[in-house]
Amino acid sequence: MLNKDPVNVYGFLMMNHLDQTLMPKFIIYVPFLNVAGMALFPFILIKEKRYRHDEVLMNHESIHLVQQLEFFILPFYILYLINYLFNLLKYGEHYKAYLNIFFEKEAYLHEGDLDYLKKRKFWAALSFIKPPK
Ligand SMILES: [Zn+2]
Repeated sequence: MLNKDPVNVYGFLMMNHLDQTLMPKFIIYVPFLNVAGMALFPFILIKEKRYRHDEVLMNHESIHLVQQLEFFILPFYILYLINYLFNLLKYGEHYKAYLNIFFEKEAYLHEGDLDYLKKRKFWAALSFIKPPK
């Protein structure tokens, strides 16, 4: 049977622009994940079931979901990878290269603020790009 009240996607996105924490979180438990959590729009993958109660981790991954949406999903991954490879050349080590990806800088800086997504500005991640010296 057809749904008589289809979801208004545009209205849904606008609503989420006002309160991005309303974005649905489809949480998938992936025991073989090599990190605690990972955002893969529209999903949040977690290594252990208990992590769904880790508000800071869920907030961190939710920030990535919003970033992914803002960058139309695929360009997010391309920019993320390019930034990582650039950082790897610059710092010569994986962890520092990862922490300095501008998307991660925003997520780590604000993951502890559970209201961050309610007040965050559109494309806020861009302000974390540091021009090369
Ligand atoms: Zn992250």
